[in-house]
Order: sequence, then C-alpha cells, then structure tokens
Amino acid sequence: MADTDGKENPRISRRTLLTSGGVVAGGAAAVAACKYGTQLFLVREAPEAEAPQARWADSKVVSHRPLGKTGFAMSDISFGCSDLTDPKVVRRAIERGVNYFDTSPDYSDAVSETTLGEGIRGTPRDQLFIVSKFCTTDGHLADDTPVSEVIESVNASLKRMNLEYLDLVHIHAVNTVDRLMAPNIHEAAGRLKEQGKVRFLGVSSHTPDLETVMRHAVDSGRFDVIMVAYNFKNWPDLHDIFHDAKEKGVGVVAMKTLKGAYHSQLADFTPTERESFAQAAFKWVLSNPDVSGLVVTIAHFPQIDEYLYASGQPMTSQDTAVLEKYDRLVSNRYCRPGCGECLDSCPNEVAIDDLLRFRMYAETYKQQREAMRMYAKVDVARSASSCTHCPAPCEAACPFDIPIRQRLLETHRMLHWA
Ligand code: SF4
Ligand code: SF4
Repeated sequence: MADTDGKENPRISRRTLLTSGGVVAGGAAAVAACKYGTQLFLVREAPEAEAPQARWADSKVVSHRPLGKTGFAMSDISFGCSDLTDPKVVRRAIERGVNYFDTSPDYSDAVSETTLGEGIRGTPRDQLFIVSKFCTTDGHLADDTPVSEVIESVNASLKRMNLEYLDLVHIHAVNTVDRLMAPNIHEAAGRLKEQGKVRFLGVSSHTPDLETVMRHAVDSGRFDVIMVAYNFKNWPDLHDIFHDAKEKGVGVVAMKTLKGAYHSQLADFTPTERESFAQAAFKWVLSNPDVSGLVVTIAHFPQIDEYLYASGQPMTSQDTAVLEKYDRLVSNRYCRPGCGECLDSCPNEVAIDDLLRFRMYAETYKQQREAMRMYAKVDVARSASSCTHCPAPCEAACPFDIPIRQRLLETHRMLHWA
C-alpha cells in the first residue's frame, strides 16, 4: 500500500474495534458518484503505473536528508513494508539507495517483518534504518499493556527480523495525548534503549487530533521522529509543527502521501496524468524542507523504478496541475485522515473514517485480504451494516460532501465476510 500503517489503537474511544472473525480474499466494486457526474473509476488492484516508462528504469535515490538528530540521512523516498512479501524487492531497493524501512508486526501477520529481515540480510546494519511499531500480530498494544509485554513485543520483532536492535519504534496510530504519553510504553521504551535493543522513539498518527498529538509530541521532547499523514494541500497547520520539529531535531517522516491513491482508477485522468501523479505527489511532499523523507508502500519491482524517479526532483507547474486536477476528481470520495468531523453525528458510533480507510486499502491498493481482516475485527454494531436504515445525519457533518452512507454500504458489501 502506498501508505505505510493501517490499524487502529484498540483503546481509543470512538474508534474502538472489537475482535471477531476471520480472513478471506475477494473482489472489489469500484463505481461511485462524485461531483464529476460522469466520472467512472476503473477497477485496478495496484497503485502503480499501468505503463511503466522506459525513462524510469534503474531509478535511484539521489537525495538523502537528515532524520532529526538521529545522525542518519534517510532516503527521501523510503520503503513502507505493509504489503511486503518478496525479499528480492527489498534487495533491489537497497541497491537503488533506499536505506529506511518501515514495518510492523501486524502487517500481514508478521510476514512483512520476516520478509524484511530476509531482504536486508547481508547489508551492513549501520547502513540501514529499520523501523517497527509497538504492536503484536493482533494489532496495536493498548496504552496500559504491562511493561513486560511491551518489551516482549519488541523482542518478538527482533527475533522475526533476526536483528539485535531496531533503530526506531513508533507508538502507532496515536489519537490522543494520553496514548502518546502512556507511561507503560515509555517505561518499556526506556528499558529497551538501556538494553541496546531500540535506539530511538517515534510516534505515528493519521487520525483526528493529528495536529494536537503532533504538537505535543514535538514539544514534549520525548520523541525522536514523528510520522504523519501528509499530502497535497492537507493540514496547513502541520507546517509550523514540522518547522518546530526540525528546529528541535525531531525527524519528520510523511506517509499517506498519495492521498488515497485513486490515480490509477480515474477515467478522467489522461494516461500521462496517471503515470505522473505519484511522482508529483512525492515531489510536493518533499518540497517542504522540514520533511526528512516519506515512506510509500513498495511491494513490486516496477514501483521502485516509478517512485524513485521522483527522488531529489523539484516540483513543476505540470505537477501542480496534476495534483489540482486529482483533488477535483476525488474531492467527494477521499476521506481525509485527521478529519473526523462526522464521527460525533453518528448515533451508532460507526468508525466512519476507519471503515472508509479500509475500503481505500481494498479499492486502490493490493490489500483486499488485509482490508477484510481489519473489517472483520469491527464490532458488528459499529459496522457499516448499521447504515442500512439510517437517515445519515453524518453526511451533513462532512465538509467534503462525501456520500458517507452510500460509500459505507458499498464498503460493507466489499469487505464483509458472510
Ligand atoms: S449512515 Fe447513519 S449509521 Fe451510517 S455512519 Fe452515517 S450516521 Fe452512522
Ligand atoms: S467522511 Fe468526511 S467528515 Fe467524516 S472523517 Fe471523512 S472527510 Fe471527515
């Protein structure tokens, strides 16, 4: 998937997801209404270019940027491992200059971690920056997880990757300041640092209260890196936070940079626009000098050629035009990470933003199984099945006119494992 993390903190109130069912593969519908009345979305699995360009061949990272005060210079375009299954893809990326890899125990039931460990074998450890999350294969650790269990989760990651230490571990999907500062996780992180098993502490978030959480993370002095959902024209207030982070030596890593990654499905996009969108999106993110780098999910060889072609490249007016057009086309279907405006209006406490994100994973990334697995964990009372006979008060609360009920019902049909 183009963006690197995915699941929610089970302790967070409105987005609490309760465990139930299983996993299955399946197909995705992909036609929906939007302001462009004639806009049709082409069904396609991967957010990579349909027609790889010859000029992309052998693309390399040409820019590495300081990652805060860690002393490491990360590849400006780096490797998100959420869909990783082939260690050869990792080796190819390393050959091309990628040196920062972001994984998590709950990416594909730890397959991501084991594959990454295999892929980096033989590369001098100090040339790489390996990142994982405080997490198990079942999901994010709760705020009050005993310290010993937090430590054990990291030990399990190290064992799966056959590593002696992780460079960075994130507290993942942080929605609240309470979770950000959870004492048990901080105590565990401190002990792991003392044991030489973790070098740096980070925080990732892409959900409501994003700016509050990230402001606190930077000001607290407790975090070495923040990983933030960040894409074209979203979250202008983050710019000040990013700037302060850089001043304080906190690394800033961007994720969710493809803004839903609908580009390969837009019938009103020309082939040239489809092929240039990802690179334009990356160039926009990296045009912010306070960003250390970005992570994008890479699972296939062609993505390496396509994505690294944008490394170190400046924005052009054509890039801006492509991004502007993309925004117009997806305006009323892209649920913005960090928004959450509609959540309090739902009488059934449906985790609207989460469910629409799961749909995005299925619809625009090669993650149908993962999306279904995540949806299967949602308490049925808070699933999209609740929308069937609802007058949809949520829609009046959405500033982007997203037809929430319709999209959630489609999501249910797409992801429900009957
Ligand atoms: S349609 Fe109704 S049940 Fe569904 S998310 Fe909106 S308010 Fe909640
Ligand atoms: S559906 Fe609309 S209001 Fe709700 S979180 Fe998404 S963008 Fe925000």
